Amino acid sequence: MKSQFAKAGIILLLSLSLKAQKTTSPAEQSMQKQGLQEVTERVPGVLVELKYATTDNFMKKNVYGCLTRAYLQKETIVKLKKAQENLEKAHPGYHLLIYDAARPLSKQWELWNTLTEYPPEKRRTYVADPKEHSIHNYGSAIDLTVADEKGKPLEMGTTYDFFGEMAYPNQEAKLLKAGKLSQKAIDNRLILRKAMTQAGFTAIEYEWWHFNAFSRKTAKQMFKVIP
Ligand SMILES: [Zn+2]
Repeated sequence: MKSQFAKAGIILLLSLSLKAQKTTSPAEQSMQKQGLQEVTERVPGVLVELKYATTDNFMKKNVYGCLTRAYLQKETIVKLKKAQENLEKAHPGYHLLIYDAARPLSKQWELWNTLTEYPPEKRRTYVADPKEHSIHNYGSAIDLTVADEKGKPLEMGTTYDFFGEMAYPNQEAKLLKAGKLSQKAIDNRLILRKAMTQAGFTAIEYEWWHFNAFSRKTAKQMFKVIP
């Protein structure tokens, strides 16, 4: 009798734990088939909050649906692991917090088509033209910030995906002088930039949160676009 109860208990626990496991969405399955890897399983300390899988983004709409986990090419994950280690060494307890990683090309089109208020030339400053592909579409670019010991994002002067020069790293000196951007925000951006560039990532001129593991040309040579 006793063993029967024990057996039922084990079965119950087993089914509960299976239910608790997150199912893998079709988008994730297709990325896994292409050799992309989930980030948090491989980089301890990294946090993920994909903004396009929430309504807290410039479109105010969940574009990613079931895609809530961050995926990257394994070569990019190696660099990211190094970046998290760099950050922890310089600022114990701090975490890299990922806002976007691998982005299917179909989602690139959705982002592009949402920004109709900008003509294509201007739009390219904020979102890569889907016809030319984004480095995100090759799992080789990351959008991210730094979070403190409690997981709270540091002050960076603008929100993620702020469209305008307040987000441009190449304008920081000018914005500081004009009293528009604080020294604290610049210092925090430098914490992120240092951890990333020392791990082999490249920063860009128009977005403090975006880093490339490879150039678009190299990414295109090395990997297939994520449909
Ligand atoms: Zn980006």
